[in-house]
Amino acid sequence: MIYFIGAGPGAEDLITVRGARLLAQAELVIYAGSLVNPALLSYCREGTRCLNSASMTLEQVIGELAACPQKAIAVRLHTGDPSIYGAIREQMDALDRLGLRYEVVPGVSSLFAAAAALKAEYTLPGVSQSVIISRMAGRTPVPQRESIRTLAQHGSTMALFLSAGMLSELCAELMAGGYAPNTPAAVVFKASWPEQEIVRGTLATIAGRASHIRKTALVLIGGFLGDAYEHSRLYDPSFSHSCREAET
Ligand code: SAH
Repeated sequence: MIYFIGAGPGAEDLITVRGARLLAQAELVIYAGSLVNPALLSYCREGTRCLNSASMTLEQVIGELAACPQKAIAVRLHTGDPSIYGAIREQMDALDRLGLRYEVVPGVSSLFAAAAALKAEYTLPGVSQSVIISRMAGRTPVPQRESIRTLAQHGSTMALFLSAGMLSELCAELMAGGYAPNTPAAVVFKASWPEQEIVRGTLATIAGRASHIRKTALVLIGGFLGDAYEHSRLYDPSFSHSCREAET
């Protein structure tokens, strides 16, 4: 059986219990070496064949997974959660064409490790109830209707992947889309890794402050990083809900 496993954001103990158990049983592990912490391979037993996919093509990855005996456990280890910029669809489709079975084990996305590092809540009452996950167009295009400038019009919480190397352009697009220059912004580099770094600022200042960070970072934008918000009604004494009557 083949398993696509979310490795989590980096820290070895942020993989799921299920993911770690499968690694311990795996005969073959193909890991995304540019982002997956190699320390995670210490969950594997001795003799597990570990391949770094950074230097492999899609065909080579599929070839290796397909060559692993069906009874054995083969793991394709992706950073964070595989559903976010994980390029797993093309792998799953290739396995479907070969009639090979697979399962997906979710992981902790860097989206959530970054929020934890910032000790922030993305969906802050009175500020934003939506999170836009996107990226700047680079060598990989983004549909025009999803340009940063267009998405910025919502003024919601934004989490930008794969864009730290284009921070000045990104901030310019966000402001052109309608965010005020004093909108709070943060860059989180290698969330949950020992070398994690947080840079805070505003759309006007963050590019200058975080210019040394070029990759493996998330850019977070929005009022959720500021001080003004409303309390949740869930714990409001004057608000009734299915588990609690309002105090009179
Ligand atoms: N599937 C992954 C994302 C893969 S795309 C996930 O769910 O996190 C690679 C991008 O993810 C990087 O360019 C960076 O923007 C972000 N990223 C991955 N790991 C990160 C980490 N530990 N801290 C901050 N950003 C990270």
